[in-house]
Amino acid sequence: MKLAIYPGSFDPVTYGHIDIITRASKMFDHIIVAVLNNPAKSPLFTVEERVTMLREVIANLPNVEVDSFSGLLVDYAREKNCRIAIRGLRAMTDFDYELHFAQTNSAISRGDLETVFLTTDIQYSFLSSTTVREIASFHGDISELVPRSVAKKLYSKYGYDN
Ligand code: ADP
Repeated sequence: MKLAIYPGSFDPVTYGHIDIITRASKMFDHIIVAVLNNPAKSPLFTVEERVTMLREVIANLPNVEVDSFSGLLVDYAREKNCRIAIRGLRAMTDFDYELHFAQTNSAISRGDLETVFLTTDIQYSFLSSTTVREIASFHGDISELVPRSVAKKLYSKYGYDN
């Protein structure tokens, strides 16, 4: 069975992430979307909230599960018996960071963890969780950026009714 892990912060999940998950779910038998528990990044949503939002929005994809992890991705992947990590590439600005991340993981896993990159759908190339949080904090329109269930939770974090 071809298993792949899609790790990230997902703070919160956006249509860009959902596009990558949907396309990856057609390439592999099973996908684990793995939410990184990294309090040092001071996320807006707790890990539990991020996992719940992801589960809601991928409920239509039977071969995708959502989990969380702390520590090194290579250790988590080994524990899951998985040798493939998926990452998304939006623009050249992602490239340096993603190349470094992929090469580091390959080196510290001694070649056990390969990274597969999926390029973003052009309509989501500008989309990031940071942008979505910023727009939501000013009660701006995020209906094209995240599903309704996620938008509601975002607005309520910033003290808006809806
Ligand atoms: P990080 O793990 O760097 O905190 P995120 O949780 O925001 O990043 O994203 C996880 C992965 O999804 C990263 O590889 C990121 O490049 C990718 N990604 C984020 N937004 C998009 C998008 N709009 N289109 C394609 N890939 C994306």
